[in-house]
Amino acid sequence: MEYQSTRSSAYRADSVTAVLDGIAPDGGLYIADPSKIAFDWKAALGCSSRDMSASILHALLPDFPDMRELVERAYLNKFETEDLTPTVKVGDRYILELFRGPTSAFKDVALSVLPQLVTAGRALQGAKDDVVILTATSGDTGKAALEGFHDVPGTRIVVFYPYKGVSRVQELQMSTQKGANVKVCAVRGNFDDAQTGVKKVFAACRDMDLGGKSLSSANSINIGRLAPQVMYYFRAYADLVSAGRIRVGDTVHYVVPTGNFGDILAGWFAKLLGLPVGTLVCASNQNKVLTDFITTGVYDKRREFYKTNSPSMDILVSSNLERLLFLLSEDEGYVAGLMKKLSEEGRYEISEELLRKLQNGFAAGTCDDESSIETIGKVFREYGYLMDPHTAVAWNVCDCFMDSFGDEPVVVLSTASPYKFPAACLRALGEEPEEDEFAVMRRLNELSGVPVPANLANLESAEVLHTDVIEKEDMLAYVLEILSK
Ligand SMILES: *Cc1c(COP(=O)(O)O)cnc(C)c1O
Repeated sequence: MEYQSTRSSAYRADSVTAVLDGIAPDGGLYIADPSKIAFDWKAALGCSSRDMSASILHALLPDFPDMRELVERAYLNKFETEDLTPTVKVGDRYILELFRGPTSAFKDVALSVLPQLVTAGRALQGAKDDVVILTATSGDTGKAALEGFHDVPGTRIVVFYPYKGVSRVQELQMSTQKGANVKVCAVRGNFDDAQTGVKKVFAACRDMDLGGKSLSSANSINIGRLAPQVMYYFRAYADLVSAGRIRVGDTVHYVVPTGNFGDILAGWFAKLLGLPVGTLVCASNQNKVLTDFITTGVYDKRREFYKTNSPSMDILVSSNLERLLFLLSEDEGYVAGLMKKLSEEGRYEISEELLRKLQNGFAAGTCDDESSIETIGKVFREYGYLMDPHTAVAWNVCDCFMDSFGDEPVVVLSTASPYKFPAACLRALGEEPEEDEFAVMRRLNELSGVPVPANLANLESAEVLHTDVIEKEDMLAYVLEILSK
């Protein structure tokens, strides 16, 4: 299976090159249509999570040998549970817990695998010099990528996060990261500035002599980051079959707290591989650019940017939407035109026909900070289940769809541990949080009985190692300095 750029069929690559390059030379994203793969999705449902993951990854990234072994190494002793991503019943729905990994956010599922893919890919291509992984983060990708790549031979990793734009816990997770090959830097600006900055560094370095080194990305613009996320849609479905809630072939709906559109796009991939996915509900916080797009067909990033209590979704330019537009339109020229409009005018509108196709698979809704706090409190009081604010956005948006789903089950994706956002959670339980986030974690633990993940509790005594803060215009110089060493 060959990958191509979403913006031009002239740029083609095998799956190894697509992963190692991260982004296509014309600024498009590498894509191949999963519906063209002959995949035995029913057989995958009978597997362990690791076997399931290996079979899906082998289908999507066929040029990597020994995928099963690679997956084994990726998840060895990293997750709390053998099944990696457990599904639990809460009230009238199911919660798919994606945060049982080493940094307590769903990005661990994919970022445990990506370093293995990069290492295997380098070996296949006989690369001698380092690959430098550039990462923009709205809070969670950064730590998960650092955790995955620190001290991996042949790699270096640079993480840019929005200055004062992430939670205190998220910042400490990154600034205390050990490893000889890691750099962490705050950028004065928001996530979109950091992500645009990284894309600009890629563009500027394309024609530069990097002394043998190469750049890649740990963001979901990299297909190697997206592909490992498909597994958990299958896992949840298989768990509903085992629980006797559905039979193989029945429809299951999924509600996904969304920012960069990577997680939900993995659900679309699952559907294209054959899994009976019903509606994929895109849940946004106040930065509801995607809700507006899915309901009207107009994507308009020219709007106020809100800092919310679900900061990992504070995004106005959702990169992976580009892949969906390509898959729905099958027209790279059309996608290139839309992306040009977005960068020049800040806005584009899709055709009626495309909007109909989009609305056939996707629905959307939005939930503000106040409602997300109410939701955390309500779900805790009614069911004793404590969720984080991102998950609460999805749960809240799900409320509006319960009638239309009827008897068909719905899975709400839970993307972070509540202890990554302890202040918001404590407030939801009716107490005003104090300044010290670790005291807040302890109080939340007393009230809820939910254990604090060790990786977060340990941060309190960890030494801060990274304090760089730069202007967004200086990101290229910052990367060049690293490349020169
Ligand atoms: C990254 C993230 C999201 C958004 O996922 P996308 O793939 O960017 O849409 C949601 N919740 C949490 C906790 C995250 O870290």
